Amino acid sequence: MTILVTGGAGYIGSHTVRALQRQGLRVVVLDNLVYGHRPVVEQVLQVPLVVGQLGDRALLDQLLSGEHPATGGAPGRPGEAIEAVLHFAAYAYVGESVADPARYYRNNLGDSLILLEALLAEGRRRGGQPLPLVFSSTCATYGIPDPEQIPIAETCPQRPINPYGRSKWMVEQLIADFGAAYGLPSVIFRYFNAAGADPVGDLGEDHTPETHLIPLVLDALSGRSPYLQIFGDDYPTADGTCIRDYIHVSDLADAHVLGLRKLLAEGGSHVFNLGNGTGYSVQQVIDTAKAITRRGLLAHVAPRRPGDPPVLVASAERARRELGWQPRYPELSTILSHAWAWHQTLIPH
Ligand code: UDP
Repeated sequence: MTILVTGGAGYIGSHTVRALQRQGLRVVVLDNLVYGHRPVVEQVLQVPLVVGQLGDRALLDQLLSGEHPATGGAPGRPGEAIEAVLHFAAYAYVGESVADPARYYRNNLGDSLILLEALLAEGRRRGGQPLPLVFSSTCATYGIPDPEQIPIAETCPQRPINPYGRSKWMVEQLIADFGAAYGLPSVIFRYFNAAGADPVGDLGEDHTPETHLIPLVLDALSGRSPYLQIFGDDYPTADGTCIRDYIHVSDLADAHVLGLRKLLAEGGSHVFNLGNGTGYSVQQVIDTAKAITRRGLLAHVAPRRPGDPPVLVASAERARRELGWQPRYPELSTILSHAWAWHQTLIPH
């Protein structure tokens, strides 16, 4: 069985490609390489990489029908048809989405609509339902939840507060509507804070620019950067810094395999939060990272980052119950150790 992974050259996508491979599934990656890494797909994962834009409908049709060289086919001569799509491809910088929303809505929302239409058309061509879709969404769709809504369940109202979060939320609405009208089988995953790296040590987080806390803490610990900024120490939390639910990227990847299996077996429309259900403050992340690496860092308290909720912690009970998902690396110290092992392989700035 061949699975199309959009955004498979990115952080969560690449770890999921590996999880799919471990299940004996064939994978083709579609990525525009704006933020993704070609060597990760071609050299580390060694799966076919199609460099292109998700909104290229002709390309999508060729891929889904198996008439693309990456699937072993050619126009009019199908190779391996695609059985399902895991859709990670998206721009994910909140600040950039505020400054240039058009780019975010075109890429994240517009191109996703084209993908959904292609899934529908290919399903019809085969005389059945649209092809199944697993979609990467985010806890950013919840916006700033009220304290009594913590831990956040899937039923928590979605009130995204920036164009990035809204673009993901809107795609969720498209998927729900396509499910109701055309029977699109779908799983939507809302990730909390993806972190860590594959324990093998050859895959990990490598964003340019980097904005996430854990890699920036490791940058400061390794001397890649001179200091860390703590965005606000006056939040209503025990130590005044923001609390997040960090979830190992390999655990996210495992959930995708389980979600895919569920869809292939029974179809339907499903939404799952993915997190550990335990929150750690920025200060706790710094302290744990210092202990693990036995290094020190310089941290300056800076103003709050606009739009940061004080606390985001998931309830992922539904994923545990309905998918049988069990995170393998729930401890923050394990997440940080794996991230650190990967971080040491990165070229210094
Ligand atoms: N953070 C910080 N300094 C940094 C980057 C992030 O204090 O250099 C904080 C940020 O304000 C948030 C938490 O760390 O409270 C996690 O931020 P990240 O960007 O990793 O993930 P987010 O929760 O925003 O998706």
